[in-house]
Amino acid sequence: MQNSVISYPRIGAKRELKFGVEKYFKDEISQTELLDLAKNLRKTHWLSQKNAGIDFISSNDFSFYDNILDCANTFNVISDKYKKLNLNEIDEYFAQARGYQGKNGDEKALAMKKWFNTNYHYLVPECDNTNISVNDTKIISQYKEAKELGIETKPVISGIFTFYKLINFKNEDIKLKVKDKLKKAYTELLNNLEKSSVKLVQFDEPYLVSDLNQDDISLFKEFYEEILNNKNSVKILLQTYFGDVRDIYVDLINLNFDAIGLDFIEGKKSLELLKKYNFPDNITLFAGVVNGKNIYKNNYEKTINLLKEIQKYAKNVVINTSCSLLHVPYTTQNETNLDEKYLEHFSFAIEKLQELKDLKEIINSNQISSHAAFVSNKNLFQKETNRTNQSVQSRIKNLKDSDFVRLPEFSQREKLQKQSLNLPLLPTTTIGSFPQTPDIRSNRLAYKKGEISAQNYLTFHQLKIKECIELQEEIGLDVLVHGESERNDMVEYFGQSLDGFLFTTNGWVQSYGTRCVKPPLIWGDVSRNKPITVSWAKYAQSLSEKYVKGMLTGPVTILNWSFPREDISLKDSTLQIALAIRDEVLDLEKEGIKIIQIDEAALREKLPLRKSDWHSEYLDWAIPAFNLVHSGVKPETQIHTHMCYSEFRDIIKEIDAMDADVISFEAARSNLELLDTLKKVNFKTQVGPGIYDIHSPRVPSVEELKSVITKILEKLPKEKVWINPDCGLKTRGYKEVVASLKNLVSATKQIRG
Ligand code: GLN
Ligand code: ZN
Repeated sequence: MQNSVISYPRIGAKRELKFGVEKYFKDEISQTELLDLAKNLRKTHWLSQKNAGIDFISSNDFSFYDNILDCANTFNVISDKYKKLNLNEIDEYFAQARGYQGKNGDEKALAMKKWFNTNYHYLVPECDNTNISVNDTKIISQYKEAKELGIETKPVISGIFTFYKLINFKNEDIKLKVKDKLKKAYTELLNNLEKSSVKLVQFDEPYLVSDLNQDDISLFKEFYEEILNNKNSVKILLQTYFGDVRDIYVDLINLNFDAIGLDFIEGKKSLELLKKYNFPDNITLFAGVVNGKNIYKNNYEKTINLLKEIQKYAKNVVINTSCSLLHVPYTTQNETNLDEKYLEHFSFAIEKLQELKDLKEIINSNQISSHAAFVSNKNLFQKETNRTNQSVQSRIKNLKDSDFVRLPEFSQREKLQKQSLNLPLLPTTTIGSFPQTPDIRSNRLAYKKGEISAQNYLTFHQLKIKECIELQEEIGLDVLVHGESERNDMVEYFGQSLDGFLFTTNGWVQSYGTRCVKPPLIWGDVSRNKPITVSWAKYAQSLSEKYVKGMLTGPVTILNWSFPREDISLKDSTLQIALAIRDEVLDLEKEGIKIIQIDEAALREKLPLRKSDWHSEYLDWAIPAFNLVHSGVKPETQIHTHMCYSEFRDIIKEIDAMDADVISFEAARSNLELLDTLKKVNFKTQVGPGIYDIHSPRVPSVEELKSVITKILEKLPKEKVWINPDCGLKTRGYKEVVASLKNLVSATKQIRG
């Protein structure tokens, strides 16, 4: 058996690519220097794979910003507006990625969207012309670059079907014409690859794991029948990931592919499909058995058994990652702050190469059970790890149905809260954070490094809170916040204060372009051993006659923005976090906080790709987990939640069933499209649709805000509406924040009048 890697992280062990590209943006390095840096990174990444004995290594998995954008540029799917800027190739590429403002014009960037069920975001190609052509310079030069290092690679390219489905076409006519031109272009590309003596190409088709209808299946067949009919000597690996291909399996194995890649980690039905329909002898199966999305060590015994099972149905099997390794950090070797007793259980990209190597050696040996790597892996999984906390586990076991229900029901609470809180009509508020100025960041960092005392830290943030409260009073907002200056990140902050989490120093994962995130690792049972936010909240409330919201992050968001455990279910992990946050909610209430906001910014993040799985696999426990957090409070305590997007039309009932009293969400950029739906379903929860976009420094005028509020009031009863910005203000500067909020308050007052 041989082994393979779908794609390798490109950002570099220490985020070299990020820093290089950002320097280029700031004109601190030249284009040549940038290209050199990229070349060196590619070399390092290929050699790591070669030295680990990987048989099938990818090229063209490198990208300066995003692979879908690369593909769009390969086939010249470039909107006229960028062409008109008349820039050199790299700058035209970056103009699409991040917008352009300069002597050649002013254009916004392409839209960005979540890449399937990951936290990576791709750029949505915009197609307003039919000038399809093939520019394969990048693909071929990188193939040759690897060859010079003695490495035969498989260029990886977005498959035509997935690529076509992700493009935003200007109209149907263009869409139709581009379809035919793209088929020809992919064929032309294969011919060029043959001329450069490429032997195998990998077409990535993750779209195949989502719900497909008959039209999709016909389109896929139409594309590949033509491409495969004109096929030359270049072999084609059709690679899928992030799930199973249940809707198209039979069609897929009947097409003339040389190899097909299936995911056996997230693809729950992959093995079942193999058993039911078999797998052709003349096709090689690239079996995704090494998890490309999570960071726990592979369990060799389980994987070897799985591979043996797969071999019963498929003659030629290659051991593969389940998806690109882009979604895990680079290496555990740079984690000097984590004890080895933890580290030995983790496996980032480099360590996964070793797993692929071990698995290959083990399965190819005739003494599996005594193979050294097999034995030591087995011992690792039998080690005592102290990951359990009996009291948390028994709390979970003893949960009753009634723990998930808040009483009295919403309409009664609404009346009680109206009386007791006595807020004006259209209450104004913000989402939580205020600008994180450089002094705030440096104070937090100094505290973390032990350079300043706890007292210094406390005094500093109390002062920040005081300033923030005074500012909001001066602006005239109705419900205040403390400003979150003590928090680095809404998930990391809570993770650091809860038992069960671990943190890396260099565990960066690319989120989009040059942006990376460093997700916490959920290691053990999660519990709260002491209040986290209570003293800050109490202090903030003591400074004002107005209500100051207690501010928490919800359990689903904490889970979704961390690396989860693999030895217990996501549901149980989320319930554990929910109980910890519930304790915090009850403590806040006990200390006199009347309004508590529990942010679920990332509730949608792990919504399964297939609609049929939405409830059973996710919503059926995610929504109750949120209910558990707040079901214990008094009727008069008002619970808010916040979401960073507004595409929840398809889960609107579930959002209402979260049973919060108020929800704020991002709406300004999506033109308040959601309002009709809210009206139609008779949404019970009070709502604060963001009335201006906080992602831009632009200050909205009073008139503009009045017209937004008027539009909202045309659709929703005035008693249900709150007035707030889109999201937290932490990335903004004080100047625009103060001006915008003043306008928000005046607009509201005028409308009230
Ligand atoms: N309360 C958080 C803030 O204002 C919410 C952040 C978010 O929604 N991503 O920063
Ligand atoms: Zn938000």
